[in-house]
Amino acid sequence: MPIYAGLEPAKTRPFTMQTAGIYIHIPFCTKKCGYCDFNAYSGYKDATKARYIDALCQEIVTRADDQARIPTIFFGGGTPTILAASDLVRILNTVRENFVVDADAEISTEANPSDADEAYLRTLCEAGFNRLSFGVQTFDDRLLRTIDRIHSGQDAVGAIKKAKRAGFTNISIDLMFGLPRQTLADFDRSLDAAFALDVPHLSIYGLIVEERTPFHARRERGKLPLPSENVETTMFAHAMERTANAGYSRYEISNYARPGFESRHNQIYWCNESYFGFGAGAAAYLDGVRSMNEKHPVRYAEQAVAGNVPIVESERLRPEETMGETMMVGLRLAKGVDLTRFAERFGVRAEEQFSGAIARQTERGLLENTGTHLRLTNRGVFLASEVMTEFV
Ligand code: SF4
Repeated sequence: MPIYAGLEPAKTRPFTMQTAGIYIHIPFCTKKCGYCDFNAYSGYKDATKARYIDALCQEIVTRADDQARIPTIFFGGGTPTILAASDLVRILNTVRENFVVDADAEISTEANPSDADEAYLRTLCEAGFNRLSFGVQTFDDRLLRTIDRIHSGQDAVGAIKKAKRAGFTNISIDLMFGLPRQTLADFDRSLDAAFALDVPHLSIYGLIVEERTPFHARRERGKLPLPSENVETTMFAHAMERTANAGYSRYEISNYARPGFESRHNQIYWCNESYFGFGAGAAAYLDGVRSMNEKHPVRYAEQAVAGNVPIVESERLRPEETMGETMMVGLRLAKGVDLTRFAERFGVRAEEQFSGAIARQTERGLLENTGTHLRLTNRGVFLASEVMTEFV
């Protein structure tokens, strides 16, 4: 990937897209989880965090664009709620002052259950945050300790109740399966606990052991007792069946929602549409250019606070690359890739551009054309990565 240091500031290079989401990265956590390969760090002092917030606000000002309409803003991490509520509100207000944010914009933040004080959440709600995504992972205290999470199952239950009292109705819970020593019964109990909290959105992911994580090192040493692939597949099937019985619709491989509560921000990614990314290591996709900010929070802050655009990698995608990525991410959606939209956007039909890949995967029974969309079959969902890599 080509690397261009010192791109000219966006101020002199106005973007021309009509709408784009905004992703804001907060790279701090109280403790780094053993499975985590996100751009997240523990142990930073308050002064470093304060400088980071100043830099983040400055980056937003530097890249201000009054031509872009913003339908969604997403604070992710790391753990955004490690910051004071007033800091998150300051960042949100900086976005509002520098972009045209829709009146009904979806404004989400990821949240750690142990940070969820009711007054804190009420401050966020009153400032315009209208969606919370809690990183619960499991309600089982033994498993939470195994994966280094700092909250308890009871903290998670309390957090959701406090969020509702604070005024949030759009709440999501993240759950994981395939954890070390997790049984199907353990996973079922976490699903029961999530259903009992009656939230409108669930994200349910299988654990992936990424390279350069402590979990990876443990697995290499034979010290990570993961469930077998069969058990993991059964857990995934359970998640699909039990969420459907509980009134959730699976709208993406790992995401389940009651009607009207699908994540609008994440759908921007799955439709391969435009988004800004602010903060250390944040990715952006604008005008056909994919870029990434400096990852390290201190180096990022040095650049951003001085008014420089902190982009360290940037690549203009060729049309065929954009088409391949649109297929790959679009197949994550249960409804699949919108074939009419694809043809309008690229001036070529997906069925022609990818005729070979589509024929092979259809023949295997993993893809189907509904007439309007190309989507994974029920069997294809279990082999999604295999199917998607055909397109890139
Ligand atoms: S809380 Fe999330 S971002 Fe932070 S270390 Fe754990 S998994 Fe990573």
